Amino acid sequence: MQLSFLTLAFAAALLASLVTKFWLASRQMRHVAAHRERVPAAFAGTVSAESHRKAADYTLAKGRFGLLSTAFGSALLLGWTLLGGLDVLNMALRDALLPAAGPMAYQLALLAAVTLIGGLLDLPFEWYSTFRIEQRFGFNHMTGKLFMLDLVKGLALGAAIGLPLAAGVLWIMGATGGLWWLWAWGAWVAFNLVLLVLYPTVIAPIFNKFEPLADEGLKTRVQALMQRCGFAAKGLFVMDGSRRSAHGNAYFTGLGASKRVVFFDTLLSRLSPPEVEAVLAHELGHFKHRHVQKRMVMLFGFSLAALALLGWLTGQSGFYTGLGVTPNIGAPNDALALLLFMLALPPFTFFVAPLMAHFSRRDEFQADAYACAQADGGSLASALIKLHQDNAATLTPDPLYVRFYYSHPPASERLAALPQPAT
Ligand SMILES: [Zn+2]
Repeated sequence: MQLSFLTLAFAAALLASLVTKFWLASRQMRHVAAHRERVPAAFAGTVSAESHRKAADYTLAKGRFGLLSTAFGSALLLGWTLLGGLDVLNMALRDALLPAAGPMAYQLALLAAVTLIGGLLDLPFEWYSTFRIEQRFGFNHMTGKLFMLDLVKGLALGAAIGLPLAAGVLWIMGATGGLWWLWAWGAWVAFNLVLLVLYPTVIAPIFNKFEPLADEGLKTRVQALMQRCGFAAKGLFVMDGSRRSAHGNAYFTGLGASKRVVFFDTLLSRLSPPEVEAVLAHELGHFKHRHVQKRMVMLFGFSLAALALLGWLTGQSGFYTGLGVTPNIGAPNDALALLLFMLALPPFTFFVAPLMAHFSRRDEFQADAYACAQADGGSLASALIKLHQDNAATLTPDPLYVRFYYSHPPASERLAALPQPAT
């Protein structure tokens, strides 16, 4: 490895992000622990002391585990880059595959190997989170068999989608010259748009069952709401979320004709019809405000900037040596550059996360306001409280932690923003 400005910048970003993560997590855990014994006044009538304590304990358990996996992730990243892991793996695969199978096979094997090793090392963490933490708090419905089945399906899907995509990008990098990053960006945008259509209709059904909302009374109510809001009354689905977890949720997804609202069965079993209507009105608010489209435009802008940067970096030998890798001579460096870039970028982009979280929380407030205009605000409030309880989400998060990470505003802020009922 050659020490360079890049080495120092990367090491500094990794250290800074690690310190910030630990600092934020410890703030969050202290804050939650300090408020464990007292239900906040705004929730005194609706949330029991017992479920408040459970939310605190759940948050603390996840927080402690999060510290462990963050530390492990940073060590692994250091191992791949500055400590030479990627360099060793690259040389081994290159010498074994390049002469016999050619440059494309060698490069695909390198991408696949790094992905598989990362996934394998992550597996114990996923297992512990599901079968220890979620289990302890009564949320886990997953069996060992389902866990394995999900794993096999995920692998097959990753190979079926990831390998052709990677081959396409590598081909573009090798064949289209100096502006390859612009072509690659076009391919990336097209891939994401296709995925947006295929995800709800083809991919999600591989893992869960989706059935059209069947409850007639609820359907009538929901159809009236959709008509009021100017939506075609179709694309309402119930998902068997209870197969894996007791957590409840609702989301919307898709593009054009594949657009749909999905309710977890766990959510429907807990909410009254007016509450379901209010939650749906919130989701329709996301549609009305075009939040998905805006998010995609923003992400496409970011990815264009990132690819342009990579386009420049691939030609600099200092990009490889500064991050602990010897560039190939007589073999393409494209897969190596992609991997290094994907590995090295997160410590830098970590500090953009608060901005993304800010936009996301703003969208939630907008969707809530829309829901209150189209449905009953009181029902939205009670649905939000139930959802928080069912997910054991803490009512007393650390404010700074919220600013950094929360994609949804905490319950207290959301309820305070709803129009107050006349007293
Ligand atoms: Zn929302």
